[in-house]
Amino acid sequence: MSPSTAVRPKVLVVGWDGVRDDVLRELRPSTIASIADNGRWWSTTQPDVDVAPTKTAVGWSSMLSGVWPDTHQVLSNEGEHHLFHRTPDMLTRAFCADPSIRTYGAASALIFGSEYGPGPLLGAGVRTLTWFDRREYPRGFADSDQLVIDDAERRLGEEDHDFSFVYFGETDSAAHDHGVGDEYFAAIGRQDERLARMVRAIESRPTFAEESWLVILTTDHGHLDGGGHGGGSWQERQTYVVAGFLGEAPTATTWADQAENIDIAPTAWAHLGVEPDRRWPCHGHSLLTH
Ligand SMILES: [Zn+2]
Repeated sequence: MSPSTAVRPKVLVVGWDGVRDDVLRELRPSTIASIADNGRWWSTTQPDVDVAPTKTAVGWSSMLSGVWPDTHQVLSNEGEHHLFHRTPDMLTRAFCADPSIRTYGAASALIFGSEYGPGPLLGAGVRTLTWFDRREYPRGFADSDQLVIDDAERRLGEEDHDFSFVYFGETDSAAHDHGVGDEYFAAIGRQDERLARMVRAIESRPTFAEESWLVILTTDHGHLDGGGHGGGSWQERQTYVVAGFLGEAPTATTWADQAENIDIAPTAWAHLGVEPDRRWPCHGHSLLTH
């Protein structure tokens, strides 16, 4: 595309709960691999466990806010004394800085859409929020993730959201129930197929040629070989960030050599061209270095 073409920036962040970077690199499912081929795949690590227990609410709070738990103070899935209200989620901050930015979140974990623990982590600036209570479904995330992808596929293809976060939890459940083995690998494969559905929906948009879609993929923590997390082993602390453009990358795109999960929020804001209010801290840096 020529530099004079006015393109509309779009960002999709996809969260897969409890996916180990080493396992993902070994499996290398086709959709996430193709996004990495058009961008970068960073192995990342959660901070020491005394700063960041490898718990779900902790990991997603850090990613969504761009600060580590020493600032947001979500230190467990209970999160009784946290300060997350002082470090709102990245979609809310983008919307507050520019209300023309259309924000969309979809998830079925309790922390995102209910008062459970530190929730709801997706705040008032997530203007379209699809949330299912996974407890209402017999197979939990294995069922509710299907509802999330049906919603995301439709909305990303047919509606006009600029900044989206879509979360899937089946991978974490599979590791808890069966350890890191065949069931877990199969769940990762299903997440990749869901990612493929979103990519196809986006690339089929009638306006796709005038849009610049940055897709970012990440997780909140790893798992012990036998399943389970919360401690400070390398297996539990390992995470990843994959970022890439669908279609042609903007000219002269360069990526940072190193990444942390708190870099996702400022990367999204940089691509969207939005500067959230600085009274809300962000300690990450954009991974787009052009
Ligand atoms: Zn988790």
